[in-house]
Amino acid sequence: MKNLLHSAFATLLPSVLQTKNKQRLSILTYHRVMPSFDYMRPTQPIASEFEWQMELLAYYFNPLPLSEALSLMSYGELPERAVCVTFDDGYADNEEIALPLLSRWKIPATVFVATDFLNGGRMWNDTVIEALRIAEGQVFDLTAMGLASYSINSLEEKRLAANTIIREIKHWPPDKRGEIVDVIVSMVGQLPSNLMMTDDQVKSLNNSGVDIGAHTMSHPILSTLELGQVKEELTGSKAHLEAMLGAPVRHFAYPNGRPGIDYRMEHRDLVEIEGFDAAVSTQWGVASGMSDRWQLPRFTPWDKTPLRFMTRLLLNFRNPA
Ligand SMILES: [Zn+2]
Repeated sequence: MKNLLHSAFATLLPSVLQTKNKQRLSILTYHRVMPSFDYMRPTQPIASEFEWQMELLAYYFNPLPLSEALSLMSYGELPERAVCVTFDDGYADNEEIALPLLSRWKIPATVFVATDFLNGGRMWNDTVIEALRIAEGQVFDLTAMGLASYSINSLEEKRLAANTIIREIKHWPPDKRGEIVDVIVSMVGQLPSNLMMTDDQVKSLNNSGVDIGAHTMSHPILSTLELGQVKEELTGSKAHLEAMLGAPVRHFAYPNGRPGIDYRMEHRDLVEIEGFDAAVSTQWGVASGMSDRWQLPRFTPWDKTPLRFMTRLLLNFRNPA
């Protein structure tokens, strides 16, 4: 693997990238790191994949804590190929599986936590996924709720059904979506309550040097809320985490995160007013000195081979947003 990577590295740099002295910061987005391949979540990296990704970052890139990277960028002193690793939502596997690997390769990270789900909670999309995983029978019938009847004869059909249901109800008003999710829960057996971190796990990350950021309380799409509710989600999650950790929480990640769609400029302004030093969106690209510090773009790695992963990450440095 190393020889192939070395030659790709030498070819792509620096002539193709042309990023020298250009102050570029690639902020990677992760959600989960799975113990092994999960057919319900095939796009999430497993531990062994995450490990070679961290090894590759340690070897070829300059991983930095988010606050340090932003500070260096503001002085024009960011090193070449600077990267930050971030996780959204607050999954328990961030502490159980990712943390030892981050520590092994000395990779700083920020974990953005949605506080309502700590200590046994579950995000609605995970409820749908876990329900379909354990659903029995040949079909999962939601016609009474205005949705379809989904064929669940194979693992692949179960995954497809979950994804389709999530896509259908994602942008529904929370009340209406909650009703459907309650019905889905009532159709299956016991669902897991250990997907998200406990307070102790958040503290464990924090004690190991992982930066803890806020990701609202209930993970709403901000553009669907009144401004007062957005303010509550921002201040509530920040205060909750600060009280738990006894330290300031400086960074924020927008739920779903598409600028102008999932949040608007007035929400971005509120994030700054409420005392966050910086915020990340899901806008695709690399941050530069020109980026809005409260709407930093990110990059989701998805390639399953080291060469493709590295190539895509290097090419991302050419894509300022
Ligand atoms: Zn999220």
